[in-house]
Amino acid sequence: MHARNCRFPPLLTAINPTPPPPVATAATHKMLPFNSNRGGCYIPRTKPDEGRDTVRSLGFNKYKIQPKVRLTSSEMFRCYADVMRMFVLVVVPLQFVSYPSIKMIGIQTGLPLPSVWEILSQLGVYFMVEDYTNYWLHRFLHGKWGYDKIHRVHHEYTAPIGFASPYAHWLEILILGIPTFLGPAIAPGHMITFWLWIVLRQIESIETHSGYVCYG
Ligand SMILES: [Zn+2]
Repeated sequence: MHARNCRFPPLLTAINPTPPPPVATAATHKMLPFNSNRGGCYIPRTKPDEGRDTVRSLGFNKYKIQPKVRLTSSEMFRCYADVMRMFVLVVVPLQFVSYPSIKMIGIQTGLPLPSVWEILSQLGVYFMVEDYTNYWLHRFLHGKWGYDKIHRVHHEYTAPIGFASPYAHWLEILILGIPTFLGPAIAPGHMITFWLWIVLRQIESIETHSGYVCYG
């Protein structure tokens, strides 16, 4: 990024946007599932078997919802590879329109930075909008047409793993992207809030699909 074109002052540039927003947004969106390992417990990236052993040795096995179901390493790799293929074919092309899109809906990329209160209040709105909208779209996808044509792909993994969180038909990736972006479109904030929202949303999705329940 050339200094004259930089939207950020030097200090902020030093700590923040070396990657331009579209690239960084894609990175925050996609790195988490691939680093989450199958346990969904956010352990750094390992080979599948090492990760599984680590999860067992940490005593997480008692939190597994279907303890008898075990996916093989090749099944896990197939899920990973399919998600990567969809990432390249669907998510990467979207990056070409991501920057004009965030500018169009009014997300700020310069100073001043948002206050903690502003970030938390906007995140609260984003979570509520996403939860409500996702419920209705997911419900639509469980109708006969939606399920047969689109959503059955996502439910191939009946004992889900973290990698299966974004495993879906390409149309579902677009449809269920709407709830994620609707909140920021209704209450646009700063790019930092937007990135934080994408990270938190991914963590929530990985946890939901991890196959573990650590509370309740
Ligand atoms: Zn479903």
